Parts: sequence; C-alpha cells; structure tokens
Amino acid sequence: MSFIGICEYVIGVIHDQDIWYYVGETDSDGKKLKSKERYSSFLVDAKRYDDEDVLRWELEELPKTMAYKILEIQRCPKCKKEFTEHPALSREDNETEICPQCGVREAVEAYERYDKDS
Ligand SMILES: [Zn+2]
Repeated sequence: MSFIGICEYVIGVIHDQDIWYYVGETDSDGKKLKSKERYSSFLVDAKRYDDEDVLRWELEELPKTMAYKILEIQRCPKCKKEFTEHPALSREDNETEICPQCGVREAVEAYERYDKDS
C-alpha cells in the first residue's frame, strides 16, 4: 500500500451522519467514564489499538444499540495529519493516498491553475 500505515486502529461509532470515536471505559487516570463520556468526535481522544484481535474482543463487549466501525489510522504524507476517512488520491502522481482535506486542496489548486491558464 502506498500510504504510510501506522497499523493502529480505533473504534468508530456511527452517530447520525458523523463518526465518533470510542474513548474507552476509563480515562487516563483509570477513572471510570460515564457512558456518554466514552465517545468523542475527536480522533485524538480515541482509544488506539495496535492489535486488531484485542479491538474485536472489546467491540464484542460494547452495547449493541449503536453501530460500530473499525477504522485504521493513516497519516497523510502531505500534511502529516492523522485521519481515518477514506483517503484521496494525490493528483501529483495518481498513486499517493492523502487525506480528504489535502485532496480537496489539490483539486482547488488544480482548478485555479487551469483558470489562470485559460
Ligand atoms: Zn493531508
């Protein structure tokens, strides 16, 4: 694969149109979190798993009332940011996978170049 895989996974929770991240049952001090505190919209808060089996095992224990998704953390080679969304293909070489925001930026830049040249 051409993207820089970190081989870390997080649990995504489908919440309306958004994806939230599973934070875990306890905070960094080991204090038990209330059920609504166990989910965050920020990837930085997400509990990371480097072992997919451990993730699947914990996923089994989670309440079945919500829809979960296993997400792999990827790092964008362009902006170095971590993301879990479906990557975009860079227009520079048509094979490097970059984050969706950089994908949009490249598209806008290409459009502006085209606009200037014509
Ligand atoms: Zn990026």
